[in-house]
Amino acid sequence: MAFWEEKTLAEMTDSEWESLCDGCGLCCLHKLEDIETLEVEFTCVKCRYLDATRQCEVYEKRTDLVEDCLNVRDLDPEYYRWLPDSCAYRRIHEGQPLPQWHPLLVGHSQTMEEGGYAVGDWAISDALVTPDADFIVRIKASDS
Ligand code: SF4
Ligand code: SF4
Repeated sequence: MAFWEEKTLAEMTDSEWESLCDGCGLCCLHKLEDIETLEVEFTCVKCRYLDATRQCEVYEKRTDLVEDCLNVRDLDPEYYRWLPDSCAYRRIHEGQPLPQWHPLLVGHSQTMEEGGYAVGDWAISDALVTPDADFIVRIKASDS
């Protein structure tokens, strides 16, 4: 069995944990949450520090610079609803398998990118616009 099938997230080593991140960048999109229903909507507005290759330009000091940056390792699972349904951390927490296109399964991120499960050039930097309801987008649900 693969480590993600036999360990809980809390039991994983740092390298195991890191390897589960597919680098989709979707957690770096601004989200809007209904305070009554807790329903989360993603917007097409991305953090200004997410570069075109979906790398964080300020990784080491990201939580100092960006107030609502999600440090997923420290995030209470209660808030995994802020992650896309394709995110491995959310899926493992919910008892779901990794998506079929996950880089750990296929060895590359091309299938994920071509399938539309990652931030693309459609995303607008929050240096240019203020995220609000006009920017809500439907994030593609994982089909596995
Ligand atoms: S949404 Fe999940 S898998 Fe995608 S970049 Fe963020 S932490 Fe990694
Ligand atoms: S600062 Fe946080 S939200 Fe912004 S790109 Fe880096 S990891 Fe993503």
